[in-house]
Amino acid sequence: MASIFTKIVNGEIPCHRVAETDHCLAFLDINPVVPGHVLCIPKQEVDYIFDLPDDLFVELHLFARRVARGLKQVCPCIKIGQAVVGIDVPHVHIHLMPLNKPGDLNFGHHVEMSQEELAALAARIAKAVEQQN
Ligand code: 5GP
Repeated sequence: MASIFTKIVNGEIPCHRVAETDHCLAFLDINPVVPGHVLCIPKQEVDYIFDLPDDLFVELHLFARRVARGLKQVCPCIKIGQAVVGIDVPHVHIHLMPLNKPGDLNFGHHVEMSQEELAALAARIAKAVEQQN
């Protein structure tokens, strides 16, 4: 069965997209730990990040770096943190989160954001990412 992220890639499930290339997609996490919590995925459905073929592993990380640079311009923070968990969704994803203190990267904590707020934030991030090299 296709993963929930493959369904997003195929447009069967909506997402708040922030960036896309031929092989990668970035969108806002549906249950954000902090505002601006982004997931970067390869479009190819692979469960475990260290099983990715070399070229896609590198491409995904370069893509995540580009997204992080745009994200940092929109969400005030000290640094963009990166985490890979993959326990809930068996489709590789890199979490990007704007961090202002160590405790901000806490998967036990979530912020409430409306669909309208998520859509507006995604549009701002998308614009900033587009302007990155
Ligand atoms: P992990 O697999 O790394 O433990 O967590 C999966 C992440 O995917 C969670 O942060 C969760 O909120 C997010 N997520 C799960 N289903 C969806 C979905 O349908 N849309 C979006 N945008 N995020 C999702």
